[in-house]
Amino acid sequence: MSIKIPRRLLADLIAHALQDDPNESCGLLLGNGHEADEMHRMSNVNAKPISRYTMQPGELVEAQEKAKNSNREFVAIYHSHTFTQGYPSKTDISNAVAVASISTRHVIISLVEKTRPVVRAFAINAKSEVTELVIETDGEPYQASD
Ligand SMILES: [Zn+2]
Repeated sequence: MSIKIPRRLLADLIAHALQDDPNESCGLLLGNGHEADEMHRMSNVNAKPISRYTMQPGELVEAQEKAKNSNREFVAIYHSHTFTQGYPSKTDISNAVAVASISTRHVIISLVEKTRPVVRAFAINAKSEVTELVIETDGEPYQASD
């Protein structure tokens, strides 16, 4: 399984994560199927934004309207980890079921090494099983070490 994220969006995901650091950034990737073509930034309204994220409900409605009006869907939910690896936390896995109607794909930007942000993608199913997704881009395949 894979997800397609153009290089310009990978750069945007990293830029958003660095901008909100040390708080977690969050948002949605819009597109069709497994191909993202736009990043939609959202506000993290969690009371502990350093280690948790909650998408602002009103912004979520706006994003849903935007997707509907452009015949697109949510390809993935993204958020950053500002001091841990880019792997879903226990909280991420347990919350995945609650946000499954938005997307079951999760993109995580890890800033554990500030000078070398890493983007990884996962599918989390209803049984809380986590599968890492290959990130396809335009051009060369994305390597986490890029
Ligand atoms: Zn997380």
